[in-house]
Amino acid sequence: MKPAPLLAVDDLHVSYGAVSALQGVSLTVSRGEIVTLIGANGAGKSTLLRTISGLIRPTAGAIVFGEGERLDRMAPHLIVRAGVSHVPEGRQVFANLTVRENLEIGAYQRRDRAGIRQSLEEMFASFPVLEERVDQSAATLSGGEQQMLAIARALMAQPQLLLLDEPSLGLAPLATQKIFAIIRDINARGMSILLIEQNAHMALRVAQRGYVLQTGRIVLEDNSDNLLRSPEVRSAYLG
Ligand code: ATP
Repeated sequence: MKPAPLLAVDDLHVSYGAVSALQGVSLTVSRGEIVTLIGANGAGKSTLLRTISGLIRPTAGAIVFGEGERLDRMAPHLIVRAGVSHVPEGRQVFANLTVRENLEIGAYQRRDRAGIRQSLEEMFASFPVLEERVDQSAATLSGGEQQMLAIARALMAQPQLLLLDEPSLGLAPLATQKIFAIIRDINARGMSILLIEQNAHMALRVAQRGYVLQTGRIVLEDNSDNLLRSPEVRSAYLG
């Protein structure tokens, strides 16, 4: 029997008042997988991540995580505690706080002080630039460094699943490549990732599987190689 997925989104509907943003979205992420969700502006990608994180309540459908916990009925802080960390679009690091303070905020629900110190050391090993800048305010970091900080902050919560919303947004090509190398590396160490990207090419090269979201509905799903070859994906998203 196939093991149950880590995350199963089932027939999810989300509306903003009269605006219907998601209309029956279903997808899964298995343990150890990178799954990408690609789609144009306004397709509903961020809405899906925000709903998984509990920031938006769905009007129908289910979000099942881990051993069967229903995230669609849970408060956001409990969803973090259950093992889901969200790196929002635009990074949203605390600009006036230092790099260290930003990282400590990522661990705000943990009480294991020694473990938190160890996690900090792990972040500095993975992201040496953050150690070099540890007492600088986050505002002084470059866009790519801020994205690293946002990812490291999310990892400080020790998630089982990382939700990444447009990590390459606004970054120069070199910084984008670095971020994708980091995503690959985190996944190689076992982290499951749901990745939203407008840069479909890079996303499909790092992910094992993908879904295409169009105006609130999944219109295609396949392994990344097939999606990269698909005429629909090529004409609409790979330019
Ligand atoms: P982008 O890449 O531009 O962020 P997206 O695929 O993430 O696009 P969403 O931001 O999820 O798309 O938006 C999906 C739809 O919901 C869009 O039509 C958008 O205008 C609408 N929408 C998003 N947030 C709100 C809101 N707070 N109130 C009303 N409508 C919203």
